[in-house]
Amino acid sequence: MSTPVLVTGGAGYIGSHTVRFLAAQGYKVVVLDNLVFGHRDAIVDEGVELVVGDIGDKELIAGLFDRHGFAAVIHFAAYAYVGESVTNPLKYYRNNTAAPLALLEVMQEKGCKNFVFSSTCATYGVPASIPIVETNPQDPINPYGRSKLMLEWILRDCDAAWGLKTASLRYFNASGSSADGKIGEDHDPETHLIPRVLMAVTGEISHLDVFGTDYPTPDGTCIRDYIHVDDLASAHAAAITHLAAGGSSVACNLGTGVGVSVKEIITAVEEVTGRTVPVKYSPRRAGDPPQLLADPSFAKQTLGWSAKHTDVRDMVSSAWAWMSGPRKGRYES
Ligand code: UDP
Repeated sequence: MSTPVLVTGGAGYIGSHTVRFLAAQGYKVVVLDNLVFGHRDAIVDEGVELVVGDIGDKELIAGLFDRHGFAAVIHFAAYAYVGESVTNPLKYYRNNTAAPLALLEVMQEKGCKNFVFSSTCATYGVPASIPIVETNPQDPINPYGRSKLMLEWILRDCDAAWGLKTASLRYFNASGSSADGKIGEDHDPETHLIPRVLMAVTGEISHLDVFGTDYPTPDGTCIRDYIHVDDLASAHAAAITHLAAGGSSVACNLGTGVGVSVKEIITAVEEVTGRTVPVKYSPRRAGDPPQLLADPSFAKQTLGWSAKHTDVRDMVSSAWAWMSGPRKGRYES
């Protein structure tokens, strides 16, 4: 019989790619998503059940556990707009930090002790050193990062108190789309670099604003570690396997270890699309660290996982396939 797994936020960008990966591996996947940011159309596998509801709804979640007897939970459901978290912190603390407590309480009651958590490199804040290792100080510079870090702490306390085993996966810059172009990234509003560069290419926006050209980096623009969403998906499966085998709780960086600047992304987009990106050089965006780069070796050591896609053109070309494909980068529902 296939292992039942509950995936919260499974209709979102990273969640939906992970759901497909797990379904292909033979897991019985139940998605819990309130569809505020998720998309019904992002669930494409027939065997996957979509339950529309909130992670704070204890009764609903308890019923799902009674019905399916989940072996593990993967928790994606969260808000992820850094700027909004600054202007409306309580929304982030309620949704990202407080709401999952209901889910954890049900897990404790039902005896489910495997939890994979979407954490973020934003928990490090401005990194004390590069590349970032998991033992770097975690000192987030915005409420979004703090809302995620607090849940990491809560998970550690639950491990100490009742043996909850957790994998906190600290994502770097998720990017790209599924290889077959069936699902992809559809955020509203879209703030991320790669989709915005592609939107500038298609004319959906007039130009790309490059936020800051005076950073202490070789070409003056910010450097990030772009990780393919399919690699993130396989890391979640590896985390489930690790926990199911009795592995101890871990916190791992998920990145490639390759740093790419904003200007290099623009060049990659021009290579992949064969078109020129209209660009405007603009002031720095508040809160952007000059460089974020993962040391991903701990994930390899503990989960046996490493990124397959290390050339950012893979991320750009799959994102382009999604954006220039039949859906034009947008779900209907
Ligand atoms: N960026 C940019 N123009 C945009 C969007 C992003 O220059 O329209 C830059 C941003 O300042 C950062 C990098 O691209 O240095 C990646 O930003 P993104 O929002 O994709 O991810 P973040 O690293 O902020 O999570």
